[in-house]
Amino acid sequence: MTTRIRPSSKRCAVIGGSGFLGRHLVEKLLERGYTVTVFDIRQSYELPGVAFHEGDLCNKEALLAALRDVSLVFHCASPAPGSDNRALFQRVNVEGTKTVIQACQEAGVQKLVLTSSASVVFEGTDIKNGKEDLPYAKKPIDYYTETKIEQEKLVLQACDADKGLLTVAIRPHGIFGPRDPQLVPILVDTARRGKMKFIIGDGSNLVDFTYVENVVHGHILAAEHLRPGSPICAKAYHITNDEPVRFWDFMSEVLVGLGYAAPRYHLPYLLVYGIALLLSLLTFLLSPLVCIKPTFTPMRVALAGTHHYYNCSRAKQDMGYQPLVSLKDAIARTVESYPHLRKGT
Ligand code: NAD
Repeated sequence: MTTRIRPSSKRCAVIGGSGFLGRHLVEKLLERGYTVTVFDIRQSYELPGVAFHEGDLCNKEALLAALRDVSLVFHCASPAPGSDNRALFQRVNVEGTKTVIQACQEAGVQKLVLTSSASVVFEGTDIKNGKEDLPYAKKPIDYYTETKIEQEKLVLQACDADKGLLTVAIRPHGIFGPRDPQLVPILVDTARRGKMKFIIGDGSNLVDFTYVENVVHGHILAAEHLRPGSPICAKAYHITNDEPVRFWDFMSEVLVGLGYAAPRYHLPYLLVYGIALLLSLLTFLLSPLVCIKPTFTPMRVALAGTHHYYNCSRAKQDMGYQPLVSLKDAIARTVESYPHLRKGT
């Protein structure tokens, strides 16, 4: 009789490890003594001790080659949320995630940690201190989120101790920090074009912005608590900074930290929402004649003008999560990490 030798629990793979969150995760895993393989469609850096496998996660054979002897997989790959390529979201986030699950089962991987998103329950109206038991959004804010919902369901349903694969999903919200190619660069670009003067609504809406190091900490805790019989099996967990902040205060602090003026003129929420709605309608009506991709959409207005912050007490209770970096320090570290985006540079 042959016995299968179990790979070391410290051998892991990060699918999407070339991305913003993925790279921070890889660096922390190395620091904690893990052996790390990165699987991504692109290689964006080199690090001693990290084996890179370039490939598409929809390709099972390519995945199997990267998952050999790996016991733990982090899946944090996704097309960029800003894309309007529905077919790509469906192919990568839904079909690709099925392939990741199959590859994990075939390769004998024991644990799969998915990076989901807190927005799987957001429909554009206020969420205050939302817990994980909120129902999935019936009308998700965009197609990206629709596929994140499908992806999370697939991964959680695949949790089966008898078959040897345990799964868990982490739902971060508004990840920020050094090397983020989205939030700060886009904010600065908007300010440089003179378009960061207005606050939508009265500016009192609270949201979660979560420092990347805290998100990484949540992922590693989840991986280390995932064992047969653990309460975290097949569950989703909010990982936040546990310090909801006024959306516009956060934007202002980052802008002022980099030398730009904070937005100061208030516009009524309903007025701005109504204009965005009208523009969307016009775009839809004109779509047979001209190809316009609107950026000022009702959902973007809702993201900037509603409360949406989440309760992370389940992660505190089940896996001892506590944010490691406060929001104040996180903003300071982030601002410091973008010297090239300072006003006047
Ligand atoms: P990112 O774009 O920086 O990283 C995603 C990585 O996935 C990239 O390196 C990309 O090359 C890779 N990838 C895309 N398609 C692939 C494919 N077919 N095969 C292999 N690799 C592929 O994004 P991020 O901000 O680091 O986000 C990481 C995860 O966190 C995503 O799942 C995202 O949905 C989730 N998330 C992000 C935020 C946020 O604020 N950034 C918030 C909530 C959830």
